[in-house]
Amino acid sequence: MSLKTLVDTLAARENVYVNCGHPMCCKSTRLDIAALIDRLGPDHGSMHQDLVGLFVCADCKAASRDRRPVFFTFVPDYQGQDEARSRRASRPTFERG
Ligand SMILES: [Zn+2]
Repeated sequence: MSLKTLVDTLAARENVYVNCGHPMCCKSTRLDIAALIDRLGPDHGSMHQDLVGLFVCADCKAASRDRRPVFFTFVPDYQGQDEARSRRASRPTFERG
C-alpha cells in the first residue's frame, strides 16, 4: 500500500537521495524522479518500501562488497516553501479606513 506516489513527490519538488547502507561506502546519490516516472509510471509509490528493491549500489557491486540495503532521504523543497512564505508576507495586511 502506497500513501505517496512518484508524481506526488515530483509535484512537491522533494529531493530524494538514495544512500548506500554499507559503512565502508555510504554513497549518496540524488534520484531523478522524472526519469523514475518514465521507467515505473507516475502511480508507482515513492515510499521506502516501494523503492528499496529497485536500487543496488554500483560502487559496492564494483568493489565486491556485501550487498546492503539502501535507504532513502526525502528533503522537502525548503527554498520553494520560503519563497511562497515571503510572497504571502509581502501582501498588504491592512486597509486604509
Ligand atoms: Zn555502496
